Amino acid sequence: MSLAVYDTMAREKRVFEPADPKRVTMYVCGPTVYNYTHIGNARSAIVFDLLFRVLRHEYGAAHVVYSRNFTDIDDKIITASKETGAPIDEITKKFAQVYTDELDALNALAPTGTPRATEHIPDMIALIERLIEAGAAYAAEGHVLFSIEAFADYGRLSGVDGDEMIAGARVEVAPYKKNPADFVLWKPAADDEPGWESPWGRGRPGWHLECSVMIEKGLGETIDIHCGGQDLRFPHHENEIAQSACAHDGAPLARYWMHNGFLRMGTDKMSKSLGNVVLTHELLKDWPGEVIRWALLSAHYRQPLEWTEDLLRQSKRQLDRFYRLLEDVADSKDEPAPPESIVLALKDDLNTPEAYAGLHELRDIAAQMEGEARRNAALRLRAAGRLMGFFQADPAAWFKGDSGDGPTAEEIDALLAKRAEARKAKDFATSDKIRDDLAAQGIVIEDGPDGATWRRA
Ligand code: AMP
Ligand code: ZN
Repeated sequence: MSLAVYDTMAREKRVFEPADPKRVTMYVCGPTVYNYTHIGNARSAIVFDLLFRVLRHEYGAAHVVYSRNFTDIDDKIITASKETGAPIDEITKKFAQVYTDELDALNALAPTGTPRATEHIPDMIALIERLIEAGAAYAAEGHVLFSIEAFADYGRLSGVDGDEMIAGARVEVAPYKKNPADFVLWKPAADDEPGWESPWGRGRPGWHLECSVMIEKGLGETIDIHCGGQDLRFPHHENEIAQSACAHDGAPLARYWMHNGFLRMGTDKMSKSLGNVVLTHELLKDWPGEVIRWALLSAHYRQPLEWTEDLLRQSKRQLDRFYRLLEDVADSKDEPAPPESIVLALKDDLNTPEAYAGLHELRDIAAQMEGEARRNAALRLRAAGRLMGFFQADPAAWFKGDSGDGPTAEEIDALLAKRAEARKAKDFATSDKIRDDLAAQGIVIEDGPDGATWRRA
């Protein structure tokens, strides 16, 4: 069966056929780096990391080019710099690194390219000049605006039109705009703000333009798959499409469009403006990255995902069951092909609920087996996990990991040392109490010839 993906533009699931199977291209709109990101932002990155993995599986790792940008010039960054007194450069470097480290902890593969907007300013100016020449953009009062009337298909991706367009764009109805829905390609910079010289004066690029330029430079005029959160369909992706098509003689920006659904708190979208956010870096203090990843992929990517503490607890318990089986093959480096059932589920528009069901079924079957058959089944499960970004930790280390509740590994080690001392002093009341207290918290102590070891039950 071929890979099929739901294409937002076509509004249906389509068989995926890359323009060139030797160079499959995908792009994900990345974060604006001025602050810590929340777990809703991470959902987008993790869903499309899974897509990247499935494409690599299909076409070979060397044949997939994946670019995810950093927006490192923006009003929000300038405000953060004014508020904290830290230079812009310092802020954006710090938070780009934080984001990279977080996704690494969530077992995301590094994209092949992570371009930054400020590295591409001359290319942005060149693209604007092309748009002006093509009659799709105009300069006015230090700004350059894209004229949406120049692009007949404007609104086709999102289905947004007319008044909705104007309201949705939350545009200031500025006097220099010919149409209130025209959007900014270049805007003037105040003296105390960062800016670059341009034919229209000192200024900085608009956000939408950045992606069009980084795609053109890093991947080409038309890419295979463009991805992002569903809130980006309008205006961001609509604007990317219009700019790129008008700069490239009508060539489409992307052949397929994929959008992930929202992560929610109760019935609300998790978002900074609502203040209902859980920051990824905070969450990683309490939970292994793999547990968070499991929770993020537990719903189908186009469905909403309700974020709860209970979801994390369940995810941990489910992973524990897999790792219990994987203890048997901890010493084996064998790497069989992942089971066909799992691959097929993923190739069906990244159907992770079906893939999870397949993993559970395989685990249940394997757990009934013994000896060689059990080992082989466990290895195949680990191979499925490798494809999806799971099961690669050392099982012994996994069961020593902090679960979020209960004592930390250091605390347990300290208690075990105290218990050893008590036993040496023949103070069995104390040593038994330590063992019982730990048992009550789900920590099992195993005494062996080299002293005691422990694991989480
Ligand atoms: P923002 O910081 O709002 O520009 O978002 C960065 C990325 O995260 C975009 O791709 C958004 O679509 C995505 N995103 C933001 N909030 C959520 C959410 N609650 N659930 C899923 N994706 C989100
Ligand atoms: Zn973008």
